[in-house]
Amino acid sequence: MTGGTGAVPLVDLAAAHTEVAAEVRAGFERVLARGGFVKGPEVAAFEREYADFTGTRHCVGAANGTDALELALRALDLPPGGGVVLPANTFVATAEAVLRAGLHPVLVDADPAHLLIDPARAADALPGAVALLPVHLNGQLAPMGPLLELADGRPVVEDAAQSQGARQHGRGAYGRIAATSFYPGKNLGAYGDAGAVLTDDPGLADAVRLIGDHGAREKYTHERVGLNSRMDALQAVVLRAKLRRLPAWNAARRAAAACYDALLGDVDGLTLPRTAPGNEHVWHLYAVRIDPGRDRDAVLAALHAAGIGAGVHYPVPVHLQPAFRFLGHREGAFPTAERAARELLTLPLYPQMTVAQQERVAEVLMKALRGAHG
Ligand SMILES: *Cc1c(COP(=O)(O)O)cnc(C)c1O
Repeated sequence: MTGGTGAVPLVDLAAAHTEVAAEVRAGFERVLARGGFVKGPEVAAFEREYADFTGTRHCVGAANGTDALELALRALDLPPGGGVVLPANTFVATAEAVLRAGLHPVLVDADPAHLLIDPARAADALPGAVALLPVHLNGQLAPMGPLLELADGRPVVEDAAQSQGARQHGRGAYGRIAATSFYPGKNLGAYGDAGAVLTDDPGLADAVRLIGDHGAREKYTHERVGLNSRMDALQAVVLRAKLRRLPAWNAARRAAAACYDALLGDVDGLTLPRTAPGNEHVWHLYAVRIDPGRDRDAVLAALHAAGIGAGVHYPVPVHLQPAFRFLGHREGAFPTAERAARELLTLPLYPQMTVAQQERVAEVLMKALRGAHG
């Protein structure tokens, strides 16, 4: 694909598949010949490899990222109904997992510069809460130093669904326990649903494994009420093949982000995403802000009309979702999260993207901005 008039998708999963196709086929054949489709040796090997990759002692596979968050929270055995502090500007799954774990979501606003949970707002909400759940949004870690200090011994559970391979001050894992998602579009994506929990604590890892497999260590002896959330062998094959490419793919994402920074640095009406101090970003999403003087949705429509697969992550913050109205927050409750929902626009970015494709996106975006005075 070259510049000119070409269409550019938001992500290109087929291009990623091409790189791993031979390994995935061979792995699928291994699993098909052996016949074990849930957990098993491929999953155990992936768990080991992903634990090593993240610098964490234990990795436990799960059926998806939302379950992984729920399992992490349930493993902590927090007091039922206890408050868990999380940002209002996240994918709804973060808040769902809190409720499904029998806990109460306590939403707080983000810091306007990086759109990560604001430690000052978290500090206001923490008294009375039992845990802190930062989200490593768009591919960079929330400010873990200040958050751990604030938590003051309360467990910090990380939503690491968007931050595979991201580091802060050279470290990848910080809190008591973290959960990630291998949904196909994530930096490390399966061919279906999968997720994992990461922790250094062997007791917590054991609890996650137990709860995620019907509370049973041995078949038909159920120590506690759990759920069915295990990783499939076929997904582990895909994840093992892709994990080997992830460092190179994340480097390619960083190069693509730098290319957008250069192409779009001086454009009127646009604010580019920023990397917080100490962070090595993995650019799960490259989301620009369309300044309030322009009509973001008109810009988005113009991009779509030109075949550019831009998106919005996320158009409605958690507190304004119908399902979460019961929390009792009105419009205006979290101004930064609401502003982000109105102004953000995610540009196409994936490891195999070419400079010509990025130039095409930039060209269409600049033209759209000129025509979108709101
Ligand atoms: C994708 C995602 C999840 C949920 O993961 P699933 O695998 O889709 O269940 C949770 N939190 C965030 C921030 C995500 O981006």
